[in-house]
Amino acid sequence: ATPTAITVGIGRGAELGILIKDSRVFDVSDKLNAMIFDKTGTITIGEPEVMDIITDMDTNGFLKMVSILESNSEHPIANAIVKKALEQNLDISNKKVEKFRAISGKGVIGFVDGKEVVIGNKLFIEEYMGNNKNSNTDDKDNNKDNYNYENIAQKLENDGKTTLIVAVDEEIKGVIGISDKIKEDAKETIEALKNMGINTYMITGDNEKTAKIIGKNVGIVENNIFANVLPDEKAKIVEKIRNNVNGYVGFVGDGINDAPALSTADVGVAIGGGTDIAIESGNVVLIKNRLKDVVGFVRLSKRILKQIK
Ligand code: ADP
Ligand code: MG
Repeated sequence: ATPTAITVGIGRGAELGILIKDSRVFDVSDKLNAMIFDKTGTITIGEPEVMDIITDMDTNGFLKMVSILESNSEHPIANAIVKKALEQNLDISNKKVEKFRAISGKGVIGFVDGKEVVIGNKLFIEEYMGNNKNSNTDDKDNNKDNYNYENIAQKLENDGKTTLIVAVDEEIKGVIGISDKIKEDAKETIEALKNMGINTYMITGDNEKTAKIIGKNVGIVENNIFANVLPDEKAKIVEKIRNNVNGYVGFVGDGINDAPALSTADVGVAIGGGTDIAIESGNVVLIKNRLKDVVGFVRLSKRILKQIK
C-alpha cells in the first residue's frame, strides 16, 4: 500500500466513523475469507432484559436475593437483573455479599444472608451441583426438582432466551429468562458480507439453542455458530476458523472477553461503545457503533487497494 493511498483511506474512514489504527489492515481486508462476530453487544444491542422469573420461592424475595448478588457484577446480565429489582421497587441497597466471586463466561457466586447463592448458565450450575453431590440434601428430591427446572430452562431456550439457573445452598430454586434485541442492521450486514464472498461466523458464551436462534435470525448458518465458548477459548476458535477457511479472518466484538480474539484475528474490529480493552485490542474501531460499518470498512479497503495497484 502506498503512503498516499493509506492516508486517503484513513481519512475517508474517519469521515465514515471508521477509525483505522493500523494501516496494515488494508492489505488483508481485500482477502478476508471469514468475518466472525461475537453475539452479546455485537449482533445484539447488549442490553438484556429480564423476561421470565420462575421460582418456588416468593418471587420478590427471590429477585431481591439474586439482585443483591448480581449488584457485585458488571456483566450486562447482572445489570438487567438489578434493573428489574429496582423496577419492582425492591430495596437492594444495604445488603452485603460475602465471598463474592464472578466466574467469567459462567456466572456468579456468593453468600447473601448467610446462604450460598449461585447464578449462572446450565453448565456452571451442573458443575457446581456435581461438585457438591455428597452434600446433606436428599438426593431423590433434588433430582426431581432439577428435572423440573431443566424443562423450564429448555422452554425458555427454545424461545431464544438466555437462561440462568439459580441455586441456593446447593438446591435449585429458580430460572430466569433474559432476552436481548438483535441490532436493526445485523441481518443486512451479514447478507452484504456473504455477497462479497466472506463467510460469516458467530462465537458466544451463551447457550447453543439461543445462539442458533439468533444466528438463524441474522442469516449465519448453524455450522458456523460456536456456543458455550469460555472467554479464553474465543481466540482459539478464531484460529481454528482461520485454518478451516485457509485465509484471512476478521473478528468483530465489544467485550472484555473479546479482547484476545480481536488481537488474534487478522482484522480486529471493535464496536466503539464497547469496553476499553476491546477498543485497545482492535485495529479498527467503529466509532458510530453501527454494525453495518463492518461492510463499509471492507468496501473502503477494496477501493483503497485498487488505487494502489
Ligand atoms: P457473550 O460471549 O455472549 O458476550 P459471556 O461470555 O459474557 O457471553 O457470558 C456467557 C454466559 O455466562 C452468559 O450467557 C451467562 O449464562 C453466564 N454469565 C456470565 N456472567 C454472568 C453473571 N454475572 N450472572 C449470571 N450469568 C452470567
Ligand atoms: Mg459481547
